Amino acid sequence: YLTTAWALAWVRLSAQVIAEHRSDLNTLDREIGDGDHGENMDRGFGAVMGRLSDVSDDAVPSEVLKLVASTLISTVGGAAGPLYGTAYLKAAIAVTGVAELDAAATVSLLTAARDGIVLRGKAVTGDKTMIDAWNPAVDAAVARQAAGGTPLDILSAAADAADQGAIATEPLVARKGRASYLGERARGHRDPGAESTRLLLRAAVDVVA
Ligand code: ADP
Ligand code: MG
Ligand code: MG
Repeated sequence: YLTTAWALAWVRLSAQVIAEHRSDLNTLDREIGDGDHGENMDRGFGAVMGRLSDVSDDAVPSEVLKLVASTLISTVGGAAGPLYGTAYLKAAIAVTGVAELDAAATVSLLTAARDGIVLRGKAVTGDKTMIDAWNPAVDAAVARQAAGGTPLDILSAAADAADQGAIATEPLVARKGRASYLGERARGHRDPGAESTRLLLRAAVDVVA
């Protein structure tokens, strides 16, 4: 089961990994955007770290996710703030009040996060956005649950699929976001949002294993 301790550890490792990859994410965004994705994400997760002590000792995982959501929405500029903010908000709503997430709840969390991003940004697979990492991640999570997987198996399958999904954005032309202005010139560069998604989903596994 995934507990509040897991959710807190996930958020802390996310902040750390985003900080470590801040300049890589900026570099990816410089190739096909405005160069600020690492900065945006690092500002957001830095602010989350500052507020994490507001989570009470008897909190449930959804309260942690809600704090991340509201903080990202209010501190991250650009496209990624509202997109990730909505993802964490919908994920929180999907598991509201549940103290320990079982396999079904783990899949619900991931599915709701992805659906929140789609609701906001209307991207589909192949548009060269973070959805190219999220869609295969959710598909893999659903499949792993159907095969009797534990929450850890499910997170791990999702993270592996997100890795592949992020790589798969490289040859694509973008149809959403700033990169869509570049046309053919976007080919050969990985989408920064797909890369940050991959990092965040990997962190969710690494704090369990
Ligand atoms: P901005 O483009 O406003 O500077 P960021 O650089 O922080 O914002 O985020 C860019 C990322 O946002 C892109 O790499 C892409 O993954 C994601 N993105 C942009 N538009 C959409 C959309 N409509 N749906 C899903 N993701 C999107
Ligand atoms: Mg940008
Ligand atoms: Mg920007």
